[in-house]
Amino acid sequence: SGAKTPDVKLVVMGRMGVGKSALVVRYLTRRFIWEYDPTLEFSYKHQTLVDDDVVSMEILDTAGQLYGDNRRQWEGHVRWGDGFLLVYSVTDKQSFHDVGRMKEFLDEAKKPRNVTAVILANKMDLKHERCISTDEGEKLAQELSCGYFEGSALLGDGVISEAIEELCREVRRRKMME
Ligand code: GDP
Ligand code: MG
Repeated sequence: SGAKTPDVKLVVMGRMGVGKSALVVRYLTRRFIWEYDPTLEFSYKHQTLVDDDVVSMEILDTAGQLYGDNRRQWEGHVRWGDGFLLVYSVTDKQSFHDVGRMKEFLDEAKKPRNVTAVILANKMDLKHERCISTDEGEKLAQELSCGYFEGSALLGDGVISEAIEELCREVRRRKMME
């Protein structure tokens, strides 16, 4: 027994503007920041309790597009990470479609291993601008064999903590099986 300290490396992915930085900053500081430089890529070290175990993690908040000219950089991120948070905005159809492409990219890069990923549908507070339903989100998650979470960085409803904890659990479970 005793607290193990597994090293969990999380990568936050998603189309620009979906709220990756807002979610990560919300998680780490409990604050909501309206404007965050969309070109900034930053990694944060953090410790938290997951199921009574101390988990140390590093969270990489990515910037830029997966299918741009920086494919090399993405391959590095994907090799580095052992858990992936795939974020879309419920107000942005394109960001929803990007999730499928990101998962495909991850599956290809991590072959033959299974990819540990969860989907987070953000900006649930924008009810009038919403164009992706919960049903659509859950269906996609099922197709991609990912967990599904929905919420809002603005409201601070705890969805980011839930998603990150789930990723930590799953990463640790897989590491123990290896
Ligand atoms: P990133 O490019 O994915 O890192 O997106 P940002 O975190 O920079 O957020 C893009 C914009 O969406 C910013 O203006 C944020 O204030 C806004 N935003 C992020 N999350 C939410 C949310 O849950 N609700 C609302 N209404 N706006 C959000
Ligand atoms: Mg950002």
